[in-house]
Amino acid sequence: MLADQQILRLPGPSPIPPSVSRAMAQPMIGHRGQSTADLLGDIRPGLKKVFGTSQEVLILTASGTAALEAAVVNTVSPGEEVLVVVTGAFGERFADICKAYGIHPHIVETEWGKAAAAEDITEMLQAYPAIKAVFMTYCETSTGVLNPVKELAEAIRKNSEALVIVDGVSCIGGVETKMDDWGLDIVVSGSQKAFMLPAGLAFIAASERAWHIIETNRQPRFYLDLKKHRNNLLKDATPYTPALSILFGLKQALMLMEEEGLEGVYARHQVMMKMARSAFKALGVPLLTSDEDASPTVTAIRPEDFDAEELRKILKEEFAMEVAGGQQQLSKKIFRIGHMGYCSPADLLQAIAAIEIGIVKAGKKIELGSGVCAAQQVYLNGGMSR
Ligand SMILES: *Cc1c(COP(=O)(O)O)cnc(C)c1O
Repeated sequence: MLADQQILRLPGPSPIPPSVSRAMAQPMIGHRGQSTADLLGDIRPGLKKVFGTSQEVLILTASGTAALEAAVVNTVSPGEEVLVVVTGAFGERFADICKAYGIHPHIVETEWGKAAAAEDITEMLQAYPAIKAVFMTYCETSTGVLNPVKELAEAIRKNSEALVIVDGVSCIGGVETKMDDWGLDIVVSGSQKAFMLPAGLAFIAASERAWHIIETNRQPRFYLDLKKHRNNLLKDATPYTPALSILFGLKQALMLMEEEGLEGVYARHQVMMKMARSAFKALGVPLLTSDEDASPTVTAIRPEDFDAEELRKILKEEFAMEVAGGQQQLSKKIFRIGHMGYCSPADLLQAIAAIEIGIVKAGKKIELGSGVCAAQQVYLNGGMSR
């Protein structure tokens, strides 16, 4: 096997573009100097566009979970009730964070692999009018579901004053997000998924309505106090030492998105989703989610006549290609292909071709090339152009 090649088809961490790697290799600078202020000044408008907001998108030096925790500790106080929409492992994480802080989560859970439904949320909001916030996952990475957050937010707004809090860690930057237009109050993301960066930055933006609550919320917090982060960012600064190398990379990654155009970025992810899905349909290998519920950034496959773990092992050993396994109740039952950020239709054709070999070696009879062919046809019909 070729040494020094890694093919990351995980739903995070995702591959880094060479120009982003080069940007991150720049010599270190002082974080209180003008160069850092200029860097943050360059980054702020680009991040706002990706989030679809006129609010500041705050940058924490942490993994994505810290921004989930920030969303909880800044908006809800101990003893208060919230609703957590659970469609998989990351919805559960929101509920766990709430419990850790003495907040009472009501749970509305779907079968894993299905998207959340507005009616179920409405029912809970009517049954428990004291609910202060609704926590939901945009792309549920553990199942490959894209929840219809625009519709869900609409239903919440119609029935309640509760804040709408969205975890978009595994799709923002790859999927359209219109925080302001959709009435989302808190939106969270992280660097190592569709943003084409290493782990280490977490992003969080809050609406006017949310800022009102953040300013008076009784929950103790220190590093994650968003007021400090906003006051500093408005002056192109951070309250504590930022991860400067990743910020160099972020500036470049935002430039790449700008160059391709956000519409182009979203269209590319849509085409990759359709290519992946049509390939497994042609191969006769079941997908975990329906077409309507599927995420453009990650595809979950639930094989019936070969072992998902064996396939993953073959891909890793023979092609240095990593796809993800299942989490929690889906452990060993599914595999997941990440197609987010620095991933192109050509990369996906490569992944499908290698996976076909893996499926044969794992013991299932297929017609070699039939998955690749289906994906090629989607590409040709999808009108993807450079
Ligand atoms: C990756 C991910 C997170 C954050 O995980 P970290 O490991 O803390 O970066 C949160 N939510 C979702 C949906 C994710 O995919």
